Amino acid sequence: MQRPTAKTMASSRAVRTNYSCVACGAGPAGMGFLFHAYRTGKLADIARNGLLIIDKRSSLGAGKLGDYVNVTGYSMVKTFLECLEHECFEKVLGDLSECSSLDRILTAAADSTPRLTDVGTLLTVAAERFIAHLTEHYDVEVLRGHEVETIRCLEDGRFEIVHHDTRKPATPLLITSDTVVMNPGGRQRVEEIDGLCRMLRIPSPGKNVKTYTSDDLLRLSSAKLVDTFAPVLAQTAPRRINRIAIIGGAHSAFTMAERLATDLGDIKLHEIAIIHRSPIRLYFETAEEARLWGYSVDAAKDVCPITKRVNRASGLRYRAFEVACSILSRGGVSGAKPRVELIDAGSGEAARARAAECVANSCAVIHGAGYGPNIPTLLDHWGAPIPLQVCRGGIEIDPLGRPLSINGEAISGLFSFGLGSGFRPDAQIGNEPAFRGRINGVWIFHHDIGGRVLTGVLQALDAMAPLQF
Ligand SMILES: Cc1cc2nc3c(=O)[nH]c(=O)nc-3n(C[C@H](O)[C@H](O)[C@H](O)COP(=O)(O)OP(=O)(O)OC[C@H]3O[C@@H](n4cnc5c(N)ncnc54)[C@H](O)[C@@H]3O)c2cc1C
Repeated sequence: MQRPTAKTMASSRAVRTNYSCVACGAGPAGMGFLFHAYRTGKLADIARNGLLIIDKRSSLGAGKLGDYVNVTGYSMVKTFLECLEHECFEKVLGDLSECSSLDRILTAAADSTPRLTDVGTLLTVAAERFIAHLTEHYDVEVLRGHEVETIRCLEDGRFEIVHHDTRKPATPLLITSDTVVMNPGGRQRVEEIDGLCRMLRIPSPGKNVKTYTSDDLLRLSSAKLVDTFAPVLAQTAPRRINRIAIIGGAHSAFTMAERLATDLGDIKLHEIAIIHRSPIRLYFETAEEARLWGYSVDAAKDVCPITKRVNRASGLRYRAFEVACSILSRGGVSGAKPRVELIDAGSGEAARARAAECVANSCAVIHGAGYGPNIPTLLDHWGAPIPLQVCRGGIEIDPLGRPLSINGEAISGLFSFGLGSGFRPDAQIGNEPAFRGRINGVWIFHHDIGGRVLTGVLQALDAMAPLQF
């Protein structure tokens, strides 16, 4: 790919090339940050020398969340609506109920759980109206259908961002910015299945076993899911059990199991094995509710000190909770034919041997164990890659959301907190002490996390150039 030159820049320069802030990725995380900045009256501050929103999609706001088909969210309708409810949004967003495509989510009970495709529609409509307001009233520009390739840290503390129009990938373009809020989402790769098996201390699937990611499969319609697996399931020798193994023990894994059981039961999927490496955790509003269910709670490890909820971050909620309970009590998803086996490969040698046997004898293995980073290449001012600390669940960040290099230094002026990076629980954010993962969720992007990153961006901008009065 050619380097951006003055010629390619001049010929395609539709927008100016220097900004105080570039929001790379306008999915739930990137937009949550911008909604928060607006609600707290700081939008003009971050857009003091121009704010650019850049995303490789043409439609903004929902990211991948709206792509998941036939999947029920793990947040309630009211949780998503709360993100958009503030007096300052009334005029900006207008009457959302006038939009007929939002009817299903706006008329649903506040404490029901919506389909993610409906959530996607809500987030898209809200984001598009919000962005239209921003571009009209603030120094804000938008680049749709543009993919960021590299982000280079310049010697003066700013960033040089190379991107391209997705219809012209061979024509790189260049902009600079004082700060970058980078939320391009997370990534699951089938190649990671070997690593997951190593972690479980079981052999990798053999060459004849098909491998997939839950992220890809959950975006297929039922008909496409059947088309994908019909040839795989048809290949099995007569009277052998047709089994699919899913590696993972959280929402993605249980959601995947439900989709497979519902859609593939009639095309000879006999069995699903969910292979996880620690006990399955369930979410409860209170410890008392958990006790009434007969669920054992370790008050020191499982209860969020702020909300008192049990397994607030790691527990299966709502539909995934019901699916897990059905599997635990009846060995399958209610109303679907395939048997579902839960294997806690970390619970001992017998379980580990069973997990190994299931993987070896499955026709397909699915990675359903979280997301890694999906960030564009990050370069130092010489153009050499900056290796980042990548731990469980993505890029390690500091309390303001700045990625940490492998030397432990925060990259000043750069922020990332969505899927594939993200904050860990702390005294302010809360969550159960036993949880060591990352916090991801639409509500928290619009609230606590959006606030922290806003503080970081404003500090970085103030350090570069004080506001002119
Ligand atoms: C199955 C599933 C169910 C979930 N259910 C819920 C739920 O009920 N409630 C909840 O709160 N959370 C839920 N989550 C979590 C939620 O999806 C994520 O927290 C959230 O979608 C992540 O948003 P994001 O903006 O980080 O990433 P994404 O949604 O992936 O958005 C990233 C954006 O960046 C853009 N982008 C990517 N790369 C580039 C690039 N190089 N250049 C320019 N743009 C780029 C993409 O086009 C996209 O618009 C769920 C997650 C999954 C996987």
